Amino acid sequence: MLKIITIAFLLMAPLSWIYVVDNGKCNGCGNCLSHCPQGALTMSGPDAYIDPELCDGCGNCVNFCPRDAIYKEWYTGIEEDEISEETMSFSQNPIVQGCVIVSGVTPLSEVKVMDRAGRIVVQNHSDQQGQLVLDMTNVPEGAYLVMSDETISVLTVI
Ligand code: SF4
Ligand code: SF4
Repeated sequence: MLKIITIAFLLMAPLSWIYVVDNGKCNGCGNCLSHCPQGALTMSGPDAYIDPELCDGCGNCVNFCPRDAIYKEWYTGIEEDEISEETMSFSQNPIVQGCVIVSGVTPLSEVKVMDRAGRIVVQNHSDQQGQLVLDMTNVPEGAYLVMSDETISVLTVI
């Protein structure tokens, strides 16, 4: 049987995209460093590193990486290791294992759930009462962004 909880959009954060270096692919060649107009790319140990506070998501550096090591992620300003703590501070339980009823948005809103790479993993449907529902049943464990227009919430699936 599905567990149904209600979430409200309590976290208001500007949505932005940044680019991230995949340490498993980067060989430290340094080709990308001089192609960031924001100065966000530096070397950190053997690999390149993108400062998330400086990256504006322009994507220019991707074109200069011969190893396809730079990829796009959403960014809320919340550090990875703070996500659990941040979500746990919500007044509604944000940890979901089944269906989620979304409140705080108009009935005609389109609500999407995105993974950290920006892939849409779930889109809302409406139940018989006209409530917006996100079926998180088959979503793998992890932190996800729930987005409706400019409004964002973070859900943790365990
Ligand atoms: S996406 Fe743009 S701002 Fe971000 S690191 Fe690459 S070149 Fe710099
Ligand atoms: S160009 Fe690619 S492989 Fe070379 S340092 Fe930059 S991210 Fe790493």
